[in-house]
Amino acid sequence: MKRVHNFNAGPSAMPLSVLQEVQAEFLDYAGTGMSVIEMSHRSDSYQTLQAETETLLRDLLHIPKDYHIVFMQGGGSMQFVMHALNFLHCRGGYINTGVWSDKAMKAAAAFGEVYEVASTKAEGFTHIPRVLPQAIKAQTDYIYLTSNNTIHGTQWQTYPQVDIPLFGDLSSDFLSRPIPISQFDLIFAGAQKNIGPAGVVVGIIKDTLLDKAKRDIPDMLRYDTYVKHHSVYNTPPVFCIYFIYKVLQWVQQQGGVEKIAQRNKEKADMIYEVIDQSNGFYRGHADIQSRSVMNITFHLATPELEKMFLQASLQNNMIGLKGHRLLGGCRASLYNAVTEESCASLATFMKSFQQAH
Ligand code: PMP
Repeated sequence: MKRVHNFNAGPSAMPLSVLQEVQAEFLDYAGTGMSVIEMSHRSDSYQTLQAETETLLRDLLHIPKDYHIVFMQGGGSMQFVMHALNFLHCRGGYINTGVWSDKAMKAAAAFGEVYEVASTKAEGFTHIPRVLPQAIKAQTDYIYLTSNNTIHGTQWQTYPQVDIPLFGDLSSDFLSRPIPISQFDLIFAGAQKNIGPAGVVVGIIKDTLLDKAKRDIPDMLRYDTYVKHHSVYNTPPVFCIYFIYKVLQWVQQQGGVEKIAQRNKEKADMIYEVIDQSNGFYRGHADIQSRSVMNITFHLATPELEKMFLQASLQNNMIGLKGHRLLGGCRASLYNAVTEESCASLATFMKSFQQAH
């Protein structure tokens, strides 16, 4: 069996043991004589599985009782629409830290006034801005932020304290570190980085926020439809949710989100150390204090050298190191399932490539 060192930005590496377990029980889930994708979403077997998935997630992230957990479809991009469709009455304040917050703000503009509470666009999204309370306009329904900027490689270290609802897109760092849930009213995360296969979004919604939702919107786009129907208003993405359950069990076996966070920090440090000690051979995109533990973005001196670097990486069994087309350069995504061994191999490769060039 060939397995690569997988530095893809998403969809991305999943824990090998989870993939093997899913493979082993694919034809016969828990002695039912059926695959999990062949059974009714209303069956006891499936309902139990989904309920256990929720319970485990609640335990691992210490999600308080007054928050609902829901599973939705349509990816992060549907959330760019849904959060505003439900909760934008007057105006929404956006902290613009990259492509994904920019997109969310543009999608939300269809439903009301949107404005930037803070933005680092003019500085090439190299850092996380400070949020000044005076920048928040009267009658702002919520403040929206992107926790980890997958493309530019920056990440909030601590979230801003605001006295209106805070919404967070945690798609690319969900489950990678503890989350101060009660600082938020709405959190969403597409699964395809740390949690499972593309096709499901996990939502965490404060109960009191639901009272503020618009009433005259389609059922399928209302958060409270998912809450009231325990995410089975229609057929949920059963395979994705099953897979999430397996990943959550794996997280638990690793010692929980706190332990995972520590490991992720050590993994990222291995690569940032190489960048910092390279005398400018590798140039990190993000300012040091805003650096992401999940996505490490860097440039080499010329596009030609970057091309050589990427070609050499492929020869060393490493994939996914090409930067996003909007930023260029290189990017190493070190999600939860990327092993220490893969990170050490990348660090060694980067050092030897520098020596050779
Ligand atoms: N938010 C973030 C932080 C992302 O990285 C992405 C894409 N990877 C999205 C939203 C969009 O997600 P999707 O492709 O599921 O619509």
